[in-house]
Amino acid sequence: MLTTTHAIAGAAIASVIPNPAISLPLAFGGHFVLDKIPHLPGDDTKKKLVKRVYLVVLIDVFVALAGTLFLARTTSNNLIVWGALAGSIMDIDAIFYHGKFVDIFKTPLPKPLSRLHGGVQNETDSIWGIVIQLAIIALSVYLVLNYA
Ligand SMILES: [Zn+2]
Repeated sequence: MLTTTHAIAGAAIASVIPNPAISLPLAFGGHFVLDKIPHLPGDDTKKKLVKRVYLVVLIDVFVALAGTLFLARTTSNNLIVWGALAGSIMDIDAIFYHGKFVDIFKTPLPKPLSRLHGGVQNETDSIWGIVIQLAIIALSVYLVLNYA
């Protein structure tokens, strides 16, 4: 699933549950639940990354970051930045775990976690793979704007 979807969903969880001891682990765990929903390949945890895919990943990470910062600024709630980070860190890990040109960096996350992340992917080429993600983003933005 796109990093943008995970980041905005994590921000929404942090908005609805203002206690970070609860919301941040939920945002982190929610990543694996969201990746179980059929989605267009977004973080490419299974296939070998090629330059074109890297471009999509870089744009996705940029949009996730920009969207998160926009929502944090709009709501003046910095906890949603941490929620977004907790919600999307497994995709950032995937870039390092599966990356070729970023081999000089090593992910600090335990490898079994990275393998679990690769194992829960439910990728589809169906249009629903993007429709579902857009719906999750829309619902998450709604929750952030009404609860943060
Ligand atoms: Zn993922």
